[in-house]
Amino acid sequence: MDTKDVILEFRTKKGMSQDELAEKVFVTRQAVSRWETGETTPNTETLKLLSKLFDVSINTLLGSPRQLICQCCGMPLEDATTSKEPNGDFNEEYCKWCYADGEYMYHNMDDLIEVCVKNMVSERISSKQARAYMKDMLPKLDYWKQYKYLGSAEMFEEFKQKLISEFNDLHIEGMPKVEKLNALVGGYINLEYRLPNGQIVKFLDDTQEHQARANEYIIQATHSVHLF
Ligand SMILES: [Zn+2]
Repeated sequence: MDTKDVILEFRTKKGMSQDELAEKVFVTRQAVSRWETGETTPNTETLKLLSKLFDVSINTLLGSPRQLICQCCGMPLEDATTSKEPNGDFNEEYCKWCYADGEYMYHNMDDLIEVCVKNMVSERISSKQARAYMKDMLPKLDYWKQYKYLGSAEMFEEFKQKLISEFNDLHIEGMPKVEKLNALVGGYINLEYRLPNGQIVKFLDDTQEHQARANEYIIQATHSVHLF
């Protein structure tokens, strides 16, 4: 489908006249008419507005010239699975699982591989084959290339390892050994959590900005202990 048909289709779906659409995206009715006859295409700024208004990616508005691939996990992207920025704009680089609430969910390639392999294994693909495929494919994606370039993945890992040993060095009674820390999405902010002694604490308490970072890692450790 061409841009002209896409715009016409979504405008009609929304039940809007050319005039109404023109007003929403700050152009004249003639401009809308020219898009729909294919005489012109909207400029970049207008495409962004249309993307938000119709809740479709710019790639879709342009008639899907590219098959978008999540640059973190490699899955093909549809509008429904494409990530969004906190302001609602589509981020057409990533799927909504790899980039959520403005944060990247995977900082360690092996963690991502384990998640993906679980979903890929079937009668026809063994976990060994799936793992080999992911190990070959992921380093070619922009997200991991960038990490390799910046060296941040390793630095982040080192930091996590340091925190893990600090937790274990506390020798808290009844707390199993911490093996792993996990990233959490923004929904965990202000999450209430009951400590083994019955005390209720709020993790990621947003009234205590300076503590937020430390809390994040504590809850990650605590959850890991319970989940793994
Ligand atoms: Zn992804």
